[in-house]
Amino acid sequence: MSHRPPPDVATDDCLRSYSYLFSPDILRDKVAFITGGGSGIGFRIAEIFMRHGCQTVIASRNQQRVSDAAKKLIAATGQQCLALSLDVRQPQTITAAVDKALKMFGKIDILINGAAGNFLCAASSISFNAYKTVIDIDTIGTFNVSKVMFEKYFQDHGGVIINITATLDYRGQALQVHAGTAKAAVDAMTRHLAVEWGHHNIRVNSLAPGPISGTEGVRRLGGRRSNWERIILGSPLQRLGNKTEIAHSALYLASPLASYVTGTVLVVDGGSWLTSANEYMMSLGTETSKL
Ligand code: NAP
Repeated sequence: MSHRPPPDVATDDCLRSYSYLFSPDILRDKVAFITGGGSGIGFRIAEIFMRHGCQTVIASRNQQRVSDAAKKLIAATGQQCLALSLDVRQPQTITAAVDKALKMFGKIDILINGAAGNFLCAASSISFNAYKTVIDIDTIGTFNVSKVMFEKYFQDHGGVIINITATLDYRGQALQVHAGTAKAAVDAMTRHLAVEWGHHNIRVNSLAPGPISGTEGVRRLGGRRSNWERIILGSPLQRLGNKTEIAHSALYLASPLASYVTGTVLVVDGGSWLTSANEYMMSLGTETSKL
């Protein structure tokens, strides 16, 4: 049996309508801390969690972005959402944000590590600094936030960590050595932390999206339209995924339905990494874009 994708909107706005597939109160009274929650996939995860009874903290560098996002999320769902500024590369800003979140909500149950940066660039052209910046945000940033959360709350109360990664490293995606290695390291981190923190009742998993419509990732990394058409038509489900589909997978991993799931990577890509084009010379024709 095949399914139609759930509705989504391309902008960072809430869904116009929503049909429940899971119990509407599956995350009732939970609190989720979502880095990168002001835009794209992180914004939709915040919305879907809030529609299922969760309160959220959305955090990224740009206070205006998260404040605007929080207003939309509160209006659409009626749940509380705290918008905070932090840079995942700076542990003191993470500590301050987690303290504020704990002061407001008294607890945190779920951490979504969604903050990331990316751009298309050949390994031979990327600057040392650009490569390091991606590792700093994606890999070290994920560790920084996880460690602060562990020390401040999860160590004594348990919790769920979901690291948003990617499939780029599975076949060595052209022009993506920086993001591919950064996300591969996060998938390794997922397994290490699942092993070390399991006895604290902490589950740690990765969620690896494929190409997702209505995101900065696809807008900036998509390259030429002809490339996209080849990827979409050549992939098993023959379409891009949408943000709601990623949020539903995060909802599953965060919920009691996944109570025995830890240390794994849930790939949500319509099978596209298995078949999508990965020709280095052809990819060089793709315009370079920064995120
Ligand atoms: P996005 O909207 O650009 O989300 C990235 C978020 O990270 C932004 O909200 C940004 O906010 C935040 N951020 C960046 N640097 C930060 C820092 N140093 N500290 C704190 N926050 C920071 O992109 P997206 O496409 O939705 O991607 C979301 C996640 O999904 C990422 O982890 C990405 O790698 C992953 N992913 C996406 C796709 C896709 O098709 N889009 C595919 C595979 C994986 P500020 O600028 O305000 O800091």
